[in-house]
Amino acid sequence: MSMLSRRDVIATAGVAAAFGLSSRLAFVAPAQAQKTPAPAKPFVTYKVGTFDCTAVYDGIWEKPHDPAFFKNANVDEVKSALKAAGQTDEFVPIPFTPLVVNTGRDVVLFDAGTGGQVQPTAGKLAENMKAAGIDPAAITKVMISHFHPDHIFGLMEKGSNAQVYPNAEIVVSAAEYKFWTDPAVIEKLPEARRPLAQRIQATFPNWKNVRQVDGEAEVAPGIRSVAAPGHTPGHIAFHLSSGNAQMIYSGDTFYQPALSLKTPQWHGAFDQDGAVAETSRRALADRIVADKVMVSGYHFPWPGAGALAKDGAGYALTPAKA
Ligand SMILES: [Zn+2]
Repeated sequence: MSMLSRRDVIATAGVAAAFGLSSRLAFVAPAQAQKTPAPAKPFVTYKVGTFDCTAVYDGIWEKPHDPAFFKNANVDEVKSALKAAGQTDEFVPIPFTPLVVNTGRDVVLFDAGTGGQVQPTAGKLAENMKAAGIDPAAITKVMISHFHPDHIFGLMEKGSNAQVYPNAEIVVSAAEYKFWTDPAVIEKLPEARRPLAQRIQATFPNWKNVRQVDGEAEVAPGIRSVAAPGHTPGHIAFHLSSGNAQMIYSGDTFYQPALSLKTPQWHGAFDQDGAVAETSRRALADRIVADKVMVSGYHFPWPGAGALAKDGAGYALTPAKA
Protein backbone atom coordinates (compact mmCIF):
# COMPACT_ATOMS: atom_id res chain seq x y z
CA MET A 1 0.00 0.00 0.00
CA SER A 2 2.77 2.41 0.92
CA MET A 3 4.14 2.07 -2.61
CA LEU A 4 0.96 3.49 -4.08
CA SER A 5 0.36 7.20 -4.46
CA ARG A 6 -2.95 8.75 -3.51
CA ARG A 7 -3.87 8.85 -7.21
CA ASP A 8 -3.06 5.14 -7.59
CA VAL A 9 -5.30 4.41 -4.63
CA ILE A 10 -8.13 6.38 -6.24
CA ALA A 11 -7.55 4.63 -9.55
CA THR A 12 -7.48 1.24 -7.82
CA ALA A 13 -10.69 2.00 -5.99
CA GLY A 14 -12.20 3.15 -9.27
CA VAL A 15 -11.43 -0.04 -11.12
CA ALA A 16 -12.46 -2.21 -8.19
CA ALA A 17 -15.76 -0.38 -8.12
CA ALA A 18 -16.10 -0.70 -11.86
CA PHE A 19 -15.83 -4.44 -11.45
CA GLY A 20 -18.41 -4.33 -8.67
CA LEU A 21 -15.97 -4.83 -5.83
CA SER A 22 -16.18 -2.87 -2.63
CA SER A 23 -13.74 -0.01 -2.18
CA ARG A 24 -12.69 -1.50 1.14
CA LEU A 25 -11.50 -4.61 -0.62
CA ALA A 26 -9.55 -2.44 -3.03
CA PHE A 27 -7.88 -0.52 -0.23
CA VAL A 28 -6.70 -3.64 1.60
CA ALA A 29 -5.62 -5.58 -1.50
CA PRO A 30 -1.82 -5.85 -1.37
CA ALA A 31 0.24 -5.24 -4.50
CA GLN A 32 1.55 -8.71 -5.21
CA ALA A 33 4.33 -9.82 -7.48
CA GLN A 34 3.06 -11.06 -10.81
CA LYS A 35 2.87 -14.86 -10.99
CA THR A 36 1.95 -15.14 -14.67
CA PRO A 37 5.04 -14.79 -16.86
CA ALA A 38 4.74 -12.02 -19.46
CA PRO A 39 4.77 -13.41 -23.02
CA ALA A 40 8.35 -13.84 -24.26
CA LYS A 41 7.38 -11.76 -27.29
CA PRO A 42 4.96 -9.07 -26.12
CA PHE A 43 3.09 -8.74 -29.41
CA VAL A 44 1.54 -11.17 -31.87
CA THR A 45 0.61 -10.37 -35.47
CA TYR A 46 -2.09 -11.98 -37.59
CA LYS A 47 -4.19 -11.12 -40.62
CA VAL A 48 -7.90 -10.51 -41.10
CA GLY A 49 -8.09 -10.35 -44.89
CA THR A 50 -5.61 -7.62 -45.80
CA PHE A 51 -5.80 -6.02 -42.34
CA ASP A 52 -2.62 -6.36 -40.29
CA CYS A 53 -3.61 -7.07 -36.68
CA THR A 54 -1.20 -6.81 -33.76
CA ALA A 55 -2.20 -7.94 -30.28
CA VAL A 56 -0.11 -5.98 -27.77
CA TYR A 57 0.41 -7.10 -24.17
CA ASP A 58 -0.38 -4.42 -21.60
CA GLY A 59 -0.26 -6.72 -18.57
CA ILE A 60 -2.54 -8.79 -16.38
CA TRP A 61 -4.70 -8.54 -13.27
CA GLU A 62 -4.38 -11.65 -11.15
CA LYS A 63 -7.68 -11.15 -9.40
CA PRO A 64 -7.98 -12.88 -6.03
CA HIS A 65 -11.00 -15.14 -5.70
CA ASP A 66 -14.01 -13.42 -4.17
CA PRO A 67 -17.37 -15.04 -3.34
CA ALA A 68 -19.12 -11.89 -4.59
CA PHE A 69 -17.58 -12.21 -8.07
CA PHE A 70 -20.66 -13.99 -9.43
CA LYS A 71 -24.23 -13.78 -8.19
CA ASN A 72 -25.01 -17.37 -9.22
CA ALA A 73 -21.68 -19.22 -9.08
CA ASN A 74 -19.46 -19.89 -6.10
CA VAL A 75 -15.66 -19.82 -5.88
CA ASP A 76 -15.36 -23.60 -6.38
CA GLU A 77 -17.41 -23.41 -9.57
CA VAL A 78 -15.26 -20.52 -10.80
CA LYS A 79 -12.10 -22.53 -10.07
CA SER A 80 -13.49 -25.56 -11.93
CA ALA A 81 -14.41 -23.42 -14.95
CA LEU A 82 -10.90 -21.94 -15.06
CA LYS A 83 -9.33 -25.41 -14.81
CA ALA A 84 -11.63 -26.76 -17.53
CA ALA A 85 -10.42 -23.94 -19.80
CA GLY A 86 -6.80 -24.89 -19.10
CA GLN A 87 -6.13 -21.81 -16.99
CA THR A 88 -4.74 -21.48 -13.49
CA ASP A 89 -7.32 -21.55 -10.69
CA GLU A 90 -5.00 -19.93 -8.15
CA PHE A 91 -6.59 -16.58 -9.03
CA VAL A 92 -8.75 -15.27 -11.89
CA PRO A 93 -6.36 -14.28 -14.68
CA ILE A 94 -7.59 -11.12 -16.37
CA PRO A 95 -5.10 -10.11 -19.06
CA PHE A 96 -5.28 -6.74 -20.80
CA THR A 97 -4.70 -7.02 -24.55
CA PRO A 98 -5.27 -3.94 -26.70
CA LEU A 99 -5.34 -4.64 -30.43
CA VAL A 100 -3.82 -2.52 -33.20
CA VAL A 101 -5.23 -2.97 -36.71
CA ASN A 102 -3.59 -1.42 -39.75
CA THR A 103 -6.27 -1.41 -42.44
CA GLY A 104 -4.06 0.28 -45.04
CA ARG A 105 -6.08 3.48 -44.59
CA ASP A 106 -6.10 3.71 -40.81
CA VAL A 107 -4.07 2.52 -37.87
CA VAL A 108 -6.72 1.65 -35.31
CA LEU A 109 -6.20 0.93 -31.62
CA PHE A 110 -8.99 -1.09 -29.98
CA ASP A 111 -9.19 -0.04 -26.32
CA ALA A 112 -6.43 2.06 -24.87
CA GLY A 113 -4.90 -0.08 -22.14
CA THR A 114 -4.52 0.70 -18.47
CA GLY A 115 -1.99 3.51 -18.82
CA GLY A 116 -0.23 1.94 -15.83
CA GLN A 117 -2.95 3.44 -13.64
CA VAL A 118 -5.09 0.42 -12.85
CA GLN A 119 -2.98 -2.52 -11.68
CA PRO A 120 0.71 -2.56 -10.72
CA THR A 121 1.05 -5.58 -13.04
CA ALA A 122 -0.13 -3.71 -16.15
CA GLY A 123 0.85 -0.63 -18.13
CA LYS A 124 3.25 -2.01 -20.70
CA LEU A 125 1.29 -1.03 -23.82
CA ALA A 126 3.54 1.89 -24.83
CA GLU A 127 6.80 -0.04 -24.52
CA ASN A 128 5.34 -3.12 -26.21
CA MET A 129 3.87 -1.09 -29.10
CA LYS A 130 7.38 0.25 -29.59
CA ALA A 131 8.72 -3.32 -29.60
CA ALA A 132 6.13 -4.14 -32.29
CA GLY A 133 7.30 -1.19 -34.39
CA ILE A 134 4.06 0.76 -33.89
CA ASP A 135 4.45 4.53 -33.51
CA PRO A 136 1.69 5.84 -31.18
CA ALA A 137 1.66 9.06 -33.25
CA ALA A 138 0.65 7.00 -36.30
CA ILE A 139 -2.60 5.84 -34.69
CA THR A 140 -5.48 7.52 -36.51
CA LYS A 141 -8.41 6.13 -34.52
CA VAL A 142 -8.97 4.66 -31.06
CA MET A 143 -12.10 2.52 -30.68
CA ILE A 144 -13.34 2.42 -27.09
CA SER A 145 -15.62 -0.48 -26.11
CA HIS A 146 -16.65 1.15 -22.81
CA PHE A 147 -15.47 3.54 -20.13
CA HIS A 148 -14.06 1.22 -17.46
CA PRO A 149 -10.57 2.29 -16.27
CA ASP A 150 -8.71 -0.62 -17.85
CA HIS A 151 -9.99 0.49 -21.28
CA ILE A 152 -9.69 4.28 -21.09
CA PHE A 153 -6.98 5.25 -18.61
CA GLY A 154 -4.47 4.59 -21.40
CA LEU A 155 -5.97 7.65 -23.16
CA MET A 156 -4.95 9.91 -20.26
CA GLU A 157 -1.56 10.80 -18.87
CA LYS A 158 -1.21 10.08 -15.18
CA GLY A 159 -1.44 13.30 -13.17
CA SER A 160 -2.16 15.80 -15.97
CA ASN A 161 -4.92 13.87 -17.79
CA ALA A 162 -3.29 15.10 -21.03
CA GLN A 163 -4.31 13.13 -24.10
CA VAL A 164 -2.02 10.26 -25.09
CA TYR A 165 -3.45 10.20 -28.66
CA PRO A 166 -4.36 13.87 -29.30
CA ASN A 167 -4.26 13.47 -33.09
CA ALA A 168 -6.43 10.34 -33.26
CA GLU A 169 -10.20 10.25 -33.47
CA ILE A 170 -11.55 8.64 -30.29
CA VAL A 171 -14.64 6.61 -31.20
CA VAL A 172 -17.04 5.98 -28.33
CA SER A 173 -20.60 4.80 -27.83
CA ALA A 174 -23.06 7.69 -27.53
CA ALA A 175 -24.99 5.83 -24.81
CA GLU A 176 -21.79 5.20 -22.84
CA TYR A 177 -20.72 8.82 -23.18
CA LYS A 178 -24.13 10.07 -22.07
CA PHE A 179 -24.21 7.78 -19.01
CA TRP A 180 -20.79 8.73 -17.65
CA THR A 181 -20.85 12.45 -18.49
CA ASP A 182 -24.27 13.13 -16.98
CA PRO A 183 -23.50 15.38 -13.97
CA ALA A 184 -26.32 13.63 -12.08
CA VAL A 185 -24.61 10.22 -12.42
CA ILE A 186 -22.03 11.06 -9.75
CA GLU A 187 -24.44 10.97 -6.83
CA LYS A 188 -26.24 7.91 -8.23
CA LEU A 189 -23.02 5.87 -8.33
CA PRO A 190 -21.60 3.97 -5.38
CA GLU A 191 -18.99 6.16 -3.71
CA ALA A 192 -16.07 4.06 -4.91
CA ARG A 193 -17.14 4.53 -8.54
CA ARG A 194 -17.39 8.30 -8.38
CA PRO A 195 -13.70 9.07 -9.06
CA LEU A 196 -14.04 7.26 -12.40
CA ALA A 197 -17.05 9.34 -13.44
CA GLN A 198 -15.31 12.50 -12.22
CA ARG A 199 -12.22 11.73 -14.27
CA ILE A 200 -14.33 11.03 -17.37
CA GLN A 201 -16.18 14.32 -16.87
CA ALA A 202 -12.86 16.17 -16.47
CA THR A 203 -11.49 14.81 -19.76
CA PHE A 204 -13.81 13.59 -22.54
CA PRO A 205 -16.07 16.69 -22.76
CA ASN A 206 -12.94 18.87 -23.19
CA TRP A 207 -11.54 16.78 -26.03
CA LYS A 208 -12.36 17.91 -29.57
CA ASN A 209 -11.48 14.55 -31.16
CA VAL A 210 -14.23 12.39 -29.67
CA ARG A 211 -16.79 10.89 -32.05
CA GLN A 212 -19.95 9.39 -30.57
CA VAL A 213 -21.64 6.58 -32.48
CA ASP A 214 -24.96 4.74 -32.20
CA GLY A 215 -25.90 1.22 -33.28
CA GLU A 216 -24.10 -0.29 -36.28
CA ALA A 217 -22.18 2.73 -37.54
CA GLU A 218 -19.27 2.67 -39.96
CA VAL A 219 -16.42 3.94 -37.77
CA ALA A 220 -13.67 3.41 -40.35
CA PRO A 221 -13.62 1.78 -43.77
CA GLY A 222 -14.14 -1.95 -43.01
CA ILE A 223 -15.03 -1.40 -39.34
CA ARG A 224 -18.51 -1.04 -37.80
CA SER A 225 -19.69 -0.66 -34.23
CA VAL A 226 -21.99 -3.32 -32.75
CA ALA A 227 -24.22 -2.59 -29.75
CA ALA A 228 -23.53 -5.00 -26.87
CA PRO A 229 -24.85 -3.34 -23.69
CA GLY A 230 -24.97 -4.77 -20.18
CA HIS A 231 -21.34 -4.86 -19.07
CA THR A 232 -21.88 -1.09 -19.02
CA PRO A 233 -24.96 0.79 -20.30
CA GLY A 234 -23.35 1.68 -23.64
CA HIS A 235 -20.80 -1.09 -24.12
CA ILE A 236 -20.05 -1.76 -27.82
CA ALA A 237 -18.16 -4.32 -29.86
CA PHE A 238 -16.71 -3.84 -33.34
CA HIS A 239 -17.06 -5.80 -36.59
CA LEU A 240 -14.01 -5.87 -38.86
CA SER A 241 -14.30 -6.94 -42.44
CA SER A 242 -11.69 -7.21 -45.20
CA GLY A 243 -12.58 -9.14 -48.34
CA ASN A 244 -14.21 -12.36 -47.16
CA ALA A 245 -12.47 -12.28 -43.79
CA GLN A 246 -14.23 -10.99 -40.71
CA MET A 247 -13.56 -10.63 -37.01
CA ILE A 248 -15.58 -9.37 -34.06
CA TYR A 249 -13.57 -7.42 -31.49
CA SER A 250 -15.80 -8.15 -28.51
CA GLY A 251 -14.33 -5.80 -25.88
CA ASP A 252 -15.72 -7.07 -22.55
CA THR A 253 -18.89 -8.73 -23.91
CA PHE A 254 -17.43 -12.10 -22.90
CA TYR A 255 -15.13 -10.64 -20.22
CA GLN A 256 -13.10 -13.65 -19.01
CA PRO A 257 -14.24 -16.28 -21.54
CA ALA A 258 -13.59 -19.26 -19.22
CA LEU A 259 -16.36 -17.85 -17.03
CA SER A 260 -18.73 -16.12 -19.46
CA LEU A 261 -18.81 -18.38 -22.54
CA LYS A 262 -19.41 -21.92 -21.28
CA THR A 263 -21.86 -20.51 -18.74
CA PRO A 264 -23.25 -17.27 -20.22
CA GLN A 265 -26.00 -17.38 -17.59
CA TRP A 266 -23.53 -16.61 -14.81
CA HIS A 267 -24.02 -13.01 -13.79
CA GLY A 268 -20.76 -11.41 -12.73
CA ALA A 269 -20.16 -8.40 -10.53
CA PHE A 270 -18.23 -6.99 -13.48
CA ASP A 271 -21.46 -6.58 -15.46
CA GLN A 272 -23.49 -3.52 -14.49
CA ASP A 273 -26.73 -5.18 -15.67
CA GLY A 274 -26.37 -8.97 -15.55
CA ALA A 275 -29.52 -9.84 -17.51
CA VAL A 276 -28.86 -7.35 -20.32
CA ALA A 277 -25.20 -8.45 -20.44
CA GLU A 278 -26.28 -12.10 -20.80
CA THR A 279 -28.64 -11.22 -23.66
CA SER A 280 -25.86 -9.30 -25.46
CA ARG A 281 -23.37 -12.11 -24.78
CA ARG A 282 -25.64 -14.77 -26.30
CA ALA A 283 -26.64 -12.60 -29.26
CA LEU A 284 -23.04 -11.74 -30.16
CA ALA A 285 -21.81 -15.31 -29.64
CA ASP A 286 -24.64 -16.67 -31.84
CA ARG A 287 -23.73 -14.17 -34.55
CA ILE A 288 -20.02 -15.11 -34.38
CA VAL A 289 -20.82 -18.84 -34.57
CA ALA A 290 -23.41 -18.46 -37.37
CA ASP A 291 -21.18 -16.20 -39.48
CA LYS A 292 -18.06 -18.30 -38.72
CA VAL A 293 -15.99 -15.20 -37.98
CA MET A 294 -12.95 -14.83 -35.75
CA VAL A 295 -13.38 -13.32 -32.32
CA SER A 296 -11.03 -11.25 -30.21
CA GLY A 297 -11.52 -10.04 -26.66
CA TYR A 298 -9.70 -7.66 -24.39
CA HIS A 299 -9.48 -10.16 -21.50
CA PHE A 300 -9.12 -13.33 -23.58
CA PRO A 301 -6.08 -15.55 -22.98
CA TRP A 302 -3.03 -14.20 -24.76
CA PRO A 303 -2.96 -13.27 -27.66
CA GLY A 304 -6.61 -12.40 -27.24
CA ALA A 305 -8.17 -14.01 -30.32
CA GLY A 306 -9.68 -17.31 -31.37
CA ALA A 307 -12.64 -19.18 -32.77
CA LEU A 308 -16.02 -19.80 -31.16
CA ALA A 309 -18.30 -22.84 -31.32
CA LYS A 310 -21.55 -23.87 -29.67
CA ASP A 311 -20.89 -26.07 -26.61
CA GLY A 312 -24.01 -27.45 -24.96
CA ALA A 313 -26.02 -24.53 -23.62
CA GLY A 314 -23.00 -22.26 -23.92
CA TYR A 315 -20.02 -21.64 -26.15
CA ALA A 316 -16.40 -22.79 -26.34
CA LEU A 317 -13.43 -20.66 -27.31
CA THR A 318 -10.48 -22.16 -29.10
CA PRO A 319 -7.77 -19.58 -28.43
CA ALA A 320 -5.37 -18.74 -31.24
CA LYS A 321 -1.81 -19.90 -30.61
CA ALA A 322 0.56 -17.15 -29.54
ZN1 LIG B 1 -12.23 -4.71 -19.06
